Amino acid sequence: MSDKKIVLITGASRGIGLAIAKELSKHNYIVLGTGTSEKSVNSLKNELVANKIDGKAYKLDIRNQESIDNLFNEINDDYSDTPDILVNNAGITNDSLLIRMDDSQWLDVINTNINSLYRVSKTFLKSMIKKRKGRIICISSVVASTGNAGQTNYVTSKSGMIGFCKSLAKEVATRGITVNCVSPGFIETDMTDKLNDAQKEQISKNIPMIKMGHAEDIAYAVSFLASDRASYITGETINVNGGLFMQ
Ligand code: NAP
Repeated sequence: MSDKKIVLITGASRGIGLAIAKELSKHNYIVLGTGTSEKSVNSLKNELVANKIDGKAYKLDIRNQESIDNLFNEINDDYSDTPDILVNNAGITNDSLLIRMDDSQWLDVINTNINSLYRVSKTFLKSMIKKRKGRIICISSVVASTGNAGQTNYVTSKSGMIGFCKSLAKEVATRGITVNCVSPGFIETDMTDKLNDAQKEQISKNIPMIKMGHAEDIAYAVSFLASDRASYITGETINVNGGLFMQ
């Protein structure tokens, strides 16, 4: 067993998750990340090798408890240990005005973003409780605070995440485990690449810094919350949004 802490990042194959993996690797963690397909797992593997990161890429579908259990067992087999830090990063959008939204769009986002939060956190929490230490960091969104037309499903999931973290933070505070959120504004990734140029320009105009953020901006906040320096912070949300929303 290594004395390095193990961090698990869901959805680390690209975007914010990949930036978190790269940033945390600079702070002496074993970095474990996931993708949903052979292709994305291989792409993450290549990133780990290219950046000389001590870690491993795994396949995971957060919608499926069996897949989460398999991941837990694979990590235990590979490292004879369990993650000290869990970053619940994987998430999706499936936008539509509510009046036009169908059940599958609603359920897709709720199941991927919020039911999975329950499943993944519960699975990895048990071993943190046994160790009496751990960090759970969840990637919410600025729209959890502001609302966003066309995203009732996504906003429900991301604001639910903040309430979930506050409640779990209270449940495990005496066990040496902290639970926090990082709430990104509009960040340049595949997720926001779906927006057309006019939409991006309109969004940027409303941001006091008049620009979208980079995935690294989120990774720095996650890195802080994972560090020993954040040991007295729990149930909190750090907003990283260029001034778009201020608490
Ligand atoms: P992204 O570029 O679309 O990447 C999404 C990641 O999640 C990928 O690694 C993807 O894996 C994984 N994923 C998707 N469905 C999954 C599933 N069912 N099981 C496991 N993993 C799954 O997204 P991003 O922009 O980096 O966003 C990361 C997080 O930040 C999300 O929770 C998002 O809601 C949040 N966020 C993003 C922004 C933004 O502006 N980008 C703003 C606020 C919040 P594959 O590569 O295999 O598909």
